[in-house]
Amino acid sequence: MATLPILEFPDERLRTKAVAVESVDDEVRQLVADMLETMYTAPGIGLAATQVDVHRRVIVIDVSEDQSTPLVLINPEVTPIGEEREPMQEGCLSIPEYFADVPRALRVNLKALDRDGTPYEIEADGLLAHCIQHELDHLEGVLFVDYLSPLKRDRVLKKMNKRHRQMQDA
Ligand code: ZN
Repeated sequence: MATLPILEFPDERLRTKAVAVESVDDEVRQLVADMLETMYTAPGIGLAATQVDVHRRVIVIDVSEDQSTPLVLINPEVTPIGEEREPMQEGCLSIPEYFADVPRALRVNLKALDRDGTPYEIEADGLLAHCIQHELDHLEGVLFVDYLSPLKRDRVLKKMNKRHRQMQDA
């Protein structure tokens, strides 16, 4: 396993729309293993392949406290259940040290393939539902700062540009 470099906002590659995985083979399983290690090392609770510059529909999530419950989503399909929306504070490994409230569906239905290529279906709510919707957005090239006002987004952009300048100087 290996940790992979994570693209950071405003890298244009984060805007790429991911394509479906045709078959869950050893290469995909290796990607999943590397993504899990990258997410746990960061540490974070979700990572989309887009964030490691692989533009295929693969997501890993673990919202447990002790990194004990990895969830692998290959070719996920997500449908909100009901009309209820609730804001929850979100962060993103591609936008470090920035957090903002984003309203999302309270409950969702998720259909996906696991790392063996076996289809599964679950209903999720709370943090997991939020996380699934956040990661799914990545596969469409959407970031959570896209939901903020232009003024707030501009502030994030400045902050990130400053961070990248400092990283270059270091
Ligand atoms: Zn993210």
